[in-house]
Amino acid sequence: MTTLSRFEIHQPASALEASQMLAHYGEDAGFYAGGTELLLAMKHSALNYRHLIDLKVVPGLNSIDVRNGFLEIGATSTHRSIERSALVEQHQPAMAEMESQVANVRVRATGTLGGNLCFAEPHSDPATLLLVLGGTVKIESAAGAREIPVGDLIAGAYASTLQAGEILTKITIPCAKPTHRSAYMKFQIHERPTLGLGLWLETPDDGRTFTSARVAVGCVCPFPARGLNAEKLLTGSCTEVEKRLPEATDAIADAADLLDDHEGSAEYKRHLIHVFLRRVFRKAIGEALD
Ligand SMILES: Cc1cc2nc3c(=O)[nH]c(=O)nc-3n(C[C@H](O)[C@H](O)[C@H](O)COP(=O)(O)OP(=O)(O)OC[C@H]3O[C@@H](n4cnc5c(N)ncnc54)[C@H](O)[C@@H]3O)c2cc1C
Repeated sequence: MTTLSRFEIHQPASALEASQMLAHYGEDAGFYAGGTELLLAMKHSALNYRHLIDLKVVPGLNSIDVRNGFLEIGATSTHRSIERSALVEQHQPAMAEMESQVANVRVRATGTLGGNLCFAEPHSDPATLLLVLGGTVKIESAAGAREIPVGDLIAGAYASTLQAGEILTKITIPCAKPTHRSAYMKFQIHERPTLGLGLWLETPDDGRTFTSARVAVGCVCPFPARGLNAEKLLTGSCTEVEKRLPEATDAIADAADLLDDHEGSAEYKRHLIHVFLRRVFRKAIGEALD
């Protein structure tokens, strides 16, 4: 039987106070946002905290704004609030669509984007898309603030690069421009996705040529990975890029540490990347899917 041990919830008035509270209670304390991962981990005794510092009550941490061409999403924004935000839909529609496919509506209504990124669960969606959209995260603590690319936040499966007392406060994403095309697709058979694939393209001439590309894969590997060698193959004329998709598949699969696990073999995951790279490319350029 799984049970939760007793704990106390503390409600800080600012990110600074939250960081100080964590320092005060030390290893007996953890930050808490939606609790969708944390409480499960505590029920299974994977994490044991007697003090939870509630980040949801910190004013301003759940705001969604656009400033100087960047979409700024507060870390305690729930998946549901991002999915339903008119600003996100207008300035980064691929993000709104990806969020609408996370988990189920109960998890989306409670779980936060910040919690998702900090927990670094390998079978999650947002980090993979944020890698190709050029997302960064702001991290604050009593020691100060720093901003890093999303890729530098995730150290491995269930591991972030956050230091004790550091809080992820904001996720910043460049707004989409008319010359950008982007899409995210996932394949899912169990409770969490088996594959996630994100693609971003720059096209000065409405999809006839691509001058720059970013592609990332997640869920098939311990943490999301950019396919840097594949990105070179995804530039050129549309016809050239379509011909090079099989070669790009191999480059993406080689860049990721494909896992043999309960979701399938590494070879099966390579096949999924092959199938979904073509689909995500067609989706990004607005062509009908097979
Ligand atoms: C049934 C189920 C299905 C799911 N399916 C999907 C899916 O399809 N795709 C997907 O992407 N995800 C999926 N998830 C994961 C879900 O997105 C996460 O559970 C959720 O986003 C985590 O956010 P939270 O606010 O609940 O985090 P919490 O559980 O509150 O916290 C998680 C961890 O992050 C830390 N933390 C939280 N916020 C911060 C912060 N701002 N700064 C520093 N540390 C912080 C906490 O200390 C804790 O260690 C699923 C989860 C469940 C339970």
